[in-house]
Amino acid sequence: MVDTDSSSDLFQRARAVTPGGVNSPVRAFRAVGGTPRFIRSAQGAWLTDVDGNDYVDLICSWGPMLLGHAHPEVQAAVADAVGRGTSYGAPTEPEVELAEEMVARTPIDSVRFVSSGTEATMSAIRLARGFTGRDVVVKFAGCYHGHVDALLAEAGSGVATLAIPGTPGVPESATGLTLVLPYHDRAAVTAAFAEHGDRIACLVTEAAPGNMGVVPPEPGFNEFLARTCAEHGALFVSDEVMTGFRASKHGQWGLDGALEGWRPDLMTFGKVMGGGFPAAAFGGRADVMAHLAPEGPVYQAGTLSGNPIATTAGLVTLRLADDAVYDHLTKAGDVVKQAATEALSEAGVPHVVQSTGTMFSVFFRGAPVRDFRDASDQDTAAYAAFFHAMLDAGVYLPPSAYEGWFLSSAHDDRAIQTVVDALPGAARAAAE
Ligand code: PLP
Repeated sequence: MVDTDSSSDLFQRARAVTPGGVNSPVRAFRAVGGTPRFIRSAQGAWLTDVDGNDYVDLICSWGPMLLGHAHPEVQAAVADAVGRGTSYGAPTEPEVELAEEMVARTPIDSVRFVSSGTEATMSAIRLARGFTGRDVVVKFAGCYHGHVDALLAEAGSGVATLAIPGTPGVPESATGLTLVLPYHDRAAVTAAFAEHGDRIACLVTEAAPGNMGVVPPEPGFNEFLARTCAEHGALFVSDEVMTGFRASKHGQWGLDGALEGWRPDLMTFGKVMGGGFPAAAFGGRADVMAHLAPEGPVYQAGTLSGNPIATTAGLVTLRLADDAVYDHLTKAGDVVKQAATEALSEAGVPHVVQSTGTMFSVFFRGAPVRDFRDASDQDTAAYAAFFHAMLDAGVYLPPSAYEGWFLSSAHDDRAIQTVVDALPGAARAAAE
């Protein structure tokens, strides 16, 4: 039996001073039960909790840690930056360099830094509204764009896990201008634009949904969305907070947009580009971005935006994220996916594995997932049993059936073998 006394003690103390004992709901393990592990340190592919238990990390901070934990070059650059002070409220060189790196790797012309993915999508929507002079925003059920009021209607991620229909605290006036459509439903998109086209400021979508589990967009779907928006004078906002610099070197856009020859009007980023620090961004077409203050009239600002430590960590991470990193993620992912498929099949557990580029997840249902309705139809009890068996065997999976499994370039043979060895027992636990 794994010793979790110290985590239990900390959880009890945390609950006395923090709602639910955590600072982001899914960390509380509510969807799977049990005691959340309090992490003391992390190195490479491994997490160590406060009781001294080691786990292969398949969350990677929900995406950011593309190079694994405590990467020596990222650590050194951050330590060096910290030595020169941590925040100035004035522009710095790392901001320029990170912006140049992102502009080079994506179809955006310019970029503005913020501190979280939530802020990035919130600001992108404000800019889209300011640019078009329109109010309505279109989103898809099951796509999560952070806890932005207007977008907390039928969102995925923690909201899906907790099955909150929207959330109290968001006034109807905030979501009243949001149209929520089923993902992959071209007819619904066409109908929405036919009816409301001249009021739609933007359509925002996860470039590939990852917050209801990974749902790869069908070929041509994002291009169809970009074209439909263009036909109606609305902006196409592609949220690459999760997929950016992770699904491929050029994000999800590198897997479809670059091939199909379209580009979003605006994109949002976070996670990997912050190298494990609170950094995110939105960027896009030069003429749209020119509407932002101080160049244009749309106000947007932030005390810690473009923070020198965060942008240094992001810059070094992106510079190190070369083809070899993505090849490694592909190969390691293939081994894990294959082993999960074999173990679950052997145990007779209905499941389906879905991927986009180097991102993947395992759904506990027998048929493919195309939209949020499919994703919601999973055996979450089987997942909870599976999750705990993996945890007991030293593998830290997302504590929710609605999330991707994340790897890093630090997931070496030993880490991957630990996952492979844990899978058959966990699959049997899921079958019980
Ligand atoms: N957009 C997407 C696609 C995300 O996956 C997330 C977070 O998971 C966000 C936006 C919000 O980012 P943050 O948690 O940094 O606010």
